[in-house]
Amino acid sequence: MALKPIITAPDPRLKKKSKPVAAVDAEVRQLMDDMLETMYAAPGIGLAAPQVGELRRVIVLDIDREDVKTGPLFMANPEIVEASDEDATYEEGCLSLPDHYSDVVRPAKVTVRYLDRDSKKQEMACEGLLSTCVQHEIDHLDGILFVDHISALKRNMILRKLLKTRKEKERDEAEGKPAAPKKDKETAPAL
Ligand SMILES: [Zn+2]
Repeated sequence: MALKPIITAPDPRLKKKSKPVAAVDAEVRQLMDDMLETMYAAPGIGLAAPQVGELRRVIVLDIDREDVKTGPLFMANPEIVEASDEDATYEEGCLSLPDHYSDVVRPAKVTVRYLDRDSKKQEMACEGLLSTCVQHEIDHLDGILFVDHISALKRNMILRKLLKTRKEKERDEAEGKPAAPKKDKETAPAL
């Protein structure tokens, strides 16, 4: 297994539509395993292939909360086949939009159909954080970020800050300054 670098916004690859995989073969399985390792290291609870620069419809998840514990989930070509009329609001974060969080409204419950790590067709009913996470990751496969669900004003503010942070980081690296230590505060999970 290998860690892959995570792409952060703004990056044109995060706005592209990903292509389905023909089947989950050894190569796709390898991608899934690398993505899971990358997600754990980040740390995050969900990761979509475009976030590591692979424009393929593959996502991984592992939610470990008091109310939901899924263990590692691997999904290829995931599709929402049913969504509830009832909505739920969660504060979302994203590994591709580091350190930014916002409330996002989505259907509270969804049913997702996908190919698992053995290329077997599966269907899963999701609610709570799992439902949010599945919808957030499938959005990535269609080039949609959580900031696309919020006001343009707030979205532009977040994207401007990300660009500023990236420029500062590049400048520090050029000057040979050590990377700033990661903030260790309690925040919403990154997806
Ligand atoms: Zn994300």
